Amino acid sequence: MEEHTVKILEIEELTHDVRRIVTEKPENYTFNPGQATEVAINRPGMVEERRPFTFTSLNDQDNLEFIIKVYHTEGVTDVIGELQVGDQLLIHDVWGAIQYKGPGYFLAGGAGITPFIAILRQLNKEGNLDGNKLFFSNKTHKDIILEDELKEILNGNAEFLLSREKSDKYHSGHIDREFLQKHVEDFNSYFYICGTSEMTNQLIDTLKDMGVKEEQLVYEQ
Ligand SMILES: Cc1cc2nc3c(=O)[nH]c(=O)nc-3n(C[C@H](O)[C@H](O)[C@H](O)COP(=O)(O)OP(=O)(O)OC[C@H]3O[C@@H](n4cnc5c(N)ncnc54)[C@H](O)[C@@H]3O)c2cc1C
Repeated sequence: MEEHTVKILEIEELTHDVRRIVTEKPENYTFNPGQATEVAINRPGMVEERRPFTFTSLNDQDNLEFIIKVYHTEGVTDVIGELQVGDQLLIHDVWGAIQYKGPGYFLAGGAGITPFIAILRQLNKEGNLDGNKLFFSNKTHKDIILEDELKEILNGNAEFLLSREKSDKYHSGHIDREFLQKHVEDFNSYFYICGTSEMTNQLIDTLKDMGVKEEQLVYEQ
């Protein structure tokens, strides 16, 4: 198994519990947008505690970027929430099934946006975002990761939903059958899904029930 030690170069608080962490990038370390690696904290007693996180930087950039939601549950992300510039992470092999296959709908819940950030940034860079649409569901507006960037690059093709807050500026509720019926124009497109396993499984069932075929669905198995 590959293992690389990388130093944290930059940390930014994106929301009340989500951090953007920029690290060094090992030489000849390559990945595709949407892929992830197992990350551990390089501290005694923590190096075996590996957790998967997705690259939100692009392969041709000099550094790696991760966007990480911190859970205060005494797990790894709890400690990630306290890391500082200069601390070290251990990163491993690159893996992940989520990759761009063609125009479609990106259905994300909370930190499930991370593979789509990488894919959408890559498509934007190539000028290939046309025909893609994002539906991004969060509990409250304070939980939305990179709202301004996503709105800007998707240029009107991003719908934001809040499940625990009512607001004129956002849709209310979850991404469900009713929402999909109203907002999906082409059920023959690809559907990219990333959120909690509960959300992912529910959306897979709903979309299949609406006639979408397994080969149109892209999600982490
Ligand atoms: C392929 C892949 C890529 C991922 N990429 C990212 C990423 O880029 N950014 C990111 O923030 N997270 C990402 N995750 C989720 C991330 O791996 C977990 O949040 C992390 O492992 C939690 O570790 P922990 O030790 O802090 O929590 P644990 O101690 O393992 O869990 C503590 C509690 O946190 C909550 N929790 C943990 N994980 C999740 C979850 N995924 N959804 C909802 N609640 C959860 C649960 O309540 C759980 O009981 C990814 C997961 C996978 C499988």
